[in-house]
Amino acid sequence: MTERRERTDVAIVGAGPVGLFAVFECGMLGMRSTVLDVLDRLGGQCAALYPEKPIYDIPGHPEIAAADLIDRLADQAAPFKPVFRLGAAVERLEEIPGGFLLATRDIEVEAGAVIIAAGVGAFGPNRPPLDNIEAYEGRSVFYLVTRREELRDRRVVIAGGGDSAVDWALALAGVAARVMVVHRRAKFRAAPESARRLEALAAEGRIELVVPYQLHALEGAGGTLSAIVVADLDGKTQRLDADVLLPFFGLSQNLGPIAQWGLALERNHIAVEPSTSMTSTRGIFAIGDIATYPGKLKLILSGFAEAALAAHAIHPLLHPGEALHFEYSTTKGVPGRG
Ligand code: FAD
Repeated sequence: MTERRERTDVAIVGAGPVGLFAVFECGMLGMRSTVLDVLDRLGGQCAALYPEKPIYDIPGHPEIAAADLIDRLADQAAPFKPVFRLGAAVERLEEIPGGFLLATRDIEVEAGAVIIAAGVGAFGPNRPPLDNIEAYEGRSVFYLVTRREELRDRRVVIAGGGDSAVDWALALAGVAARVMVVHRRAKFRAAPESARRLEALAAEGRIELVVPYQLHALEGAGGTLSAIVVADLDGKTQRLDADVLLPFFGLSQNLGPIAQWGLALERNHIAVEPSTSMTSTRGIFAIGDIATYPGKLKLILSGFAEAALAAHAIHPLLHPGEALHFEYSTTKGVPGRG
C-alpha cells in the first residue's frame, strides 16, 4: 500500500557509484534528484560486495578502497541535496502526463525524467543446493563479507574457485583461525597473480586447499554450524570442523521488475543510444552496468561518462526552449564549495 507521493526532476534507480555520480551531473545542470535503492545503504556493488578492496582504475585515484570511493561520491553529490530512498525497490515505472511515476511498496515518486543505474538489476547470490541451508544463512553462512574483522579467529570454509573465493581466502589468511578452500577442481579460475599467492599460502600451511571436493552437507544446530561435510567426485566424504561457510558461486543477474517496464532489452541489459544513454523510451535513460551499446565496457569510469551524457540529454527535455551552454565545472563552481 503506497503511503506517500513526492516529486523530483530526475528519479535515479540505483545508488551504486554510477547512480551517485548522476546526482552530481544532474545537479550541475540545476536538476534535483531522488535516488531509490532496494539496498539499505549507498554504494551498490562497491559497498555490498567488495567494500575493502582497492580499485586501481578510477581516474585521479591510483588506489582507492571501494567503500572510500562511495564516500567520496556521496560527498561530491551532497551539495545538490539529493533525496535518498533506501530499502526501496522500484517495482513499477509508468508514463504519466508530464513525466513518469515510479512506485515502490511505500512511496511513489513523480519525475520529469528517469535514469536507471540499476547495475545487474536485483542481484542475488547463487546458493549451493544444500539441505536446510536457509537455517544457517545470516548466522553461519554468508554470501558476502563486509568486514573481515567479523571473521577473526573463526574457522572459515570458503567454497568456489573464482576471484571472490580466492580473494577472500587471501584476505582472511592471518585473520581467521583456519581458512579452508573447497573447490571441485585443483586449478583455480582466479586472476593468475591471486592464484599464485593462494598456492604460496597453501604451501606455507596458512590456507588449506580442499580439492577436488564439493559441498555435501552442513552440520550444526540452531543456525550455528559445527562442521561442513564435503565429498569428492567418487562420493567419498570428509568432515571439516568449521564455524562459518562463505559460498562464492557468483551472482545471479536478474533484471527483476525492470524487465517489465517496456524498454528494449539486449541479453538482460537495457539497450541505449550511446551518445545520450537514452533507452527506447524518450525520457528514460540507462547508465552503468545495466546499459549496453556496441563496445560497452562495464567499468565504473564508463558509467561516469554515461551519467554526464544522460544529464546533458535530460536538460532540454525538462527545460524545452532553454539554451544549455556547455560549461566546465571550473567555470561554474559547485554550490557550497570553494
Ligand atoms: P551497481 O553498483 O550494481 O549498483 C546498482 C544498484 O541498483 C544496486 O545497489 C541495486 O540494489 C540497485 N537496484 C537494482 N534494481 C533496483 C530496483 N528495481 N529498485 C531499486 N534499486 C535497484 N569496476 C571497475 O571499474 N574497476 C574495478 O576494479 C572493479 N572491480 C570489481 C570487483 C568486484 C569484486 C566486482 C563485483 C565488481 C568490480 N567492478 C569494478 C565493477 C563495478 O563494481 C561495477 O561496474 C559498478 O558497481 C557498476 O555501478 P552501477 O552504479 O552501474 O551499478
